[in-house]
Amino acid sequence: MLADRLWTNAHIATMCGPSPGAAEISAIASLNGQIAFVGAHSDAPDAREIIDCEGRWITPGLIDPHTHLVHAGSRADEFEQRLTGATYEQIALRGGGIISTVKATRAANLEELIASALPRLDAMIGQGITTIEIKSGYGLTLDDERKMLLAAKQLARIRPVDVVTTFLGAHAVPPEFAHRADAYVDEICRVMIPALVEDGLIDAVDVFCETIAFTREQAGRVLAAARSLGLPVKIHAEQLSNLGAAALAAAFGATSADHLEHLTSTDIEAMRAAGTVATLLPGAYYGTRETQLPPIAALRQAQVPIALATDCNPGTSPLVSPLLTMNLGATLFGLTVAECLLGFTSNAARALGRHDIGRLVPGARCDLAIWSVQTLNELIYWMGSQPLHARVFAGSPT
Ligand SMILES: [Zn+2]
Repeated sequence: MLADRLWTNAHIATMCGPSPGAAEISAIASLNGQIAFVGAHSDAPDAREIIDCEGRWITPGLIDPHTHLVHAGSRADEFEQRLTGATYEQIALRGGGIISTVKATRAANLEELIASALPRLDAMIGQGITTIEIKSGYGLTLDDERKMLLAAKQLARIRPVDVVTTFLGAHAVPPEFAHRADAYVDEICRVMIPALVEDGLIDAVDVFCETIAFTREQAGRVLAAARSLGLPVKIHAEQLSNLGAAALAAAFGATSADHLEHLTSTDIEAMRAAGTVATLLPGAYYGTRETQLPPIAALRQAQVPIALATDCNPGTSPLVSPLLTMNLGATLFGLTVAECLLGFTSNAARALGRHDIGRLVPGARCDLAIWSVQTLNELIYWMGSQPLHARVFAGSPT
């Protein structure tokens, strides 16, 4: 075999088991965008191009499995109001909160949405992200949700990155459906999901099940509509209270349930049985000064896979750094270094229902992050560092 590229003299963290991978120096080769070889340099195939990594570490390209990256406007003014004592209720009465982002997103055209998302995406790419999930959910009409999903898809044509789109029409009840949430859920199930599937814009469907959003019954209708069309589903669950939403999503075979601060042992058992990944969002926990910790020990004991995500959004988690997210996961949630790294690679892939990314094995897409660190724990230890040496997407240095 003549490989396209061979990276040598590297520590390779394959993320194939419960720990990131062996520390010995080895090599990895790509052919036609896929990994063709991982192992000792002496066994490696010849290649058209050989890249000496000079002892650096290679991990899979990072995967962010939960973001609201595409949106218009900024909530920086609300952040400042909260610092001076304003409550969420006061801010909402002044026209702030999620509805202000909905207004700004509806007012923006496709090009403006793309332009505003690009700096955030570039920050993610600069920290080794090669796959990112992007949700809709600030349009809340068919046309505006379509515009958000189109913007997300377009980003993958502008930058070397894989974008997974998730329809989150059930993010908030739009003003024109005030006090008619059930009618809006009907619109989502009967009109929006079928139309956006027809457009080829939806990879998965999500719903925000919470006292301030949609009820368990309403969430179940959205999940059922999505599953009836064969779409993968996931859920924003148990962030502010326990509604049994994670167990509900698990019953629909959800790939992930996300947030989970108020998760119970019943929910955990349902997730374990369904193979649903627990996606934790320490940025939102930090941004809202939450004090209820997700039940990490119980998730570990049940061997529910744990993923991590930035939850990049303008309200509660204006976070564009996967490395800082890992630091928050370790510092605030007590996750181990291995859990943080698996959370942004192999378990993040599982949270997206993907088998072709997140691990360095022959046949996987050759997405690599090459880090200028002596040991992997440096990636989580530093706050605000930029240790990425190089990034490879589908076999090509980018
Ligand atoms: Zn979210």
